[in-house]
Amino acid sequence: MDWNTLSNECMQCRKCGLCEGRRHVVFGTGNREAEILLVGEGPGEQEDLQGEPFVGPAGRLLDDLLDLIDLDRRKVYIANIVKCRPPGNRDPSNEEQQACLPYLRAQTALIRPKIIVCLGRIAAGRILHEEYRISREHGQWTERSGVWLTATFHPSALLRSDQYRAAAWEDLKGLRAKAEEICTHTF
Ligand code: URA
Ligand code: SF4
Repeated sequence: MDWNTLSNECMQCRKCGLCEGRRHVVFGTGNREAEILLVGEGPGEQEDLQGEPFVGPAGRLLDDLLDLIDLDRRKVYIANIVKCRPPGNRDPSNEEQQACLPYLRAQTALIRPKIIVCLGRIAAGRILHEEYRISREHGQWTERSGVWLTATFHPSALLRSDQYRAAAWEDLKGLRAKAEEICTHTF
């Protein structure tokens, strides 16, 4: 599967009910040769309007967070578990996630990142393990077939409450350290 085939297929996708209310499919964006892949949950209102991931308030915070470790969003690839907006920003259902996951898998296979960072519970639960608890396991690293995986707080959770800020900062520093250790063209 090449990028064009994949994105064309995704842009026309009607494999789950989320296609009904969407304004744009939010396929993903960034550097297709990225060493770091960031995975969010699904498009919010602004993302649905603009067709790009993390361009609303959570996206602005994400940019600021990446900035803290000198990481430009154009250096990484950013995608979501589901590519169409769940109505009212509800959690995507298990069925919707399952329907959409092949796109993320195909993206990952094309990018071949060295690091995958799950942003929030939904991505961590899908990619790391089903019972993942961000509050307990955030910032931990595991290796799977040569790819390093971790998860941290979703930027929206950081916007809702100050209580995770210090922990998120530790996670970011851990990401920077891991990237310095194993990435060759990110910094
Ligand atoms: N939240 C997400 O999980 N993804 C986006 O693209 C925007 C907000
Ligand atoms: Fe297709 Fe994913 Fe959109 Fe569902 S959320 S319609 S599976 S692209």
